[in-house]
Amino acid sequence: MEKFDTEIYSKKVLKTIRKYRLVENGDKIFIGLSGGKDSASAGYFISKYVKENNVKCDIIGFHIILGDFIPKDVEKTARKQAEIFGIPFKTIELKNLGIDMEKISKLPRPVCSSCGTIKRYLMNKIPREMGGNKLCTGHHADDFIVFFFKNILGGNISWISKFTPLLPGRNKSIARIRPLFFVGGNENKKFCDALKIPYIEENACPYISIKKRIDKRREKWYETVESISRWQPNFRYQMMNGIISLSSHLYSNLTEPKECKICGEPTDGEICAFCKILKEIK
Ligand code: SF4
Ligand code: ZN
Repeated sequence: MEKFDTEIYSKKVLKTIRKYRLVENGDKIFIGLSGGKDSASAGYFISKYVKENNVKCDIIGFHIILGDFIPKDVEKTARKQAEIFGIPFKTIELKNLGIDMEKISKLPRPVCSSCGTIKRYLMNKIPREMGGNKLCTGHHADDFIVFFFKNILGGNISWISKFTPLLPGRNKSIARIRPLFFVGGNENKKFCDALKIPYIEENACPYISIKKRIDKRREKWYETVESISRWQPNFRYQMMNGIISLSSHLYSNLTEPKECKICGEPTDGEICAFCKILKEIK
């Protein structure tokens, strides 16, 4: 098996943070720590970069507790990661916001799609209300390459304008930073393993079998990216650079988000997807 070089991997991630100015003095950055390997790696490098470069900014690990159906180990692991990175850790619990995942799981729409909508909504709203200006996520090259092809095939070209290491904030949407933009999911795993950073395997949620069934084709895409990278080692890097230049051309065409008529949060329609879910469970 090919040996994993943590030095090369670290250089790629730190170069992304530096080159795209993901972190600057005065920032208040929330790192969405899910307990998984990708966000762990993103959190590790943002914290490392801030310390080593003496950047005057705040970093907070942020975790959403979805409900009792998720093992307690998930939150514990995310908390442990924040401890290792030396950053404060904040959580919010869906049940304290009156959101019952049990009820949501019984809606006709796939539970993972509702879960994703809720997480995306809260990952923007809560950090912004707590004074945050940036949200750091563990999205990596493979995610963007797969989204890229799916959007091309679906004719959803304007969405590609969001595929960049730093997506600036607009109105009520805070900026997104993606330090793992040039590295793959497998590399994140190998890095966490090499540094013994604890993380939770993907299958901690009892709904994972539903997700896997829905995502079967998606998985094939990920396998394809991994297999191309094996015979064309620069594939991720070249693809991501191509995607960045394309996204910068498309960025000016991005329409301004509206505000949801119910909650005032950003949306492309009249009512945001989050409010639609809440309406259905009332
Ligand atoms: Fe949410 Fe569980 Fe589905 Fe993941 S598998 S999206 S945690 S419901
Ligand atoms: Zn809304």
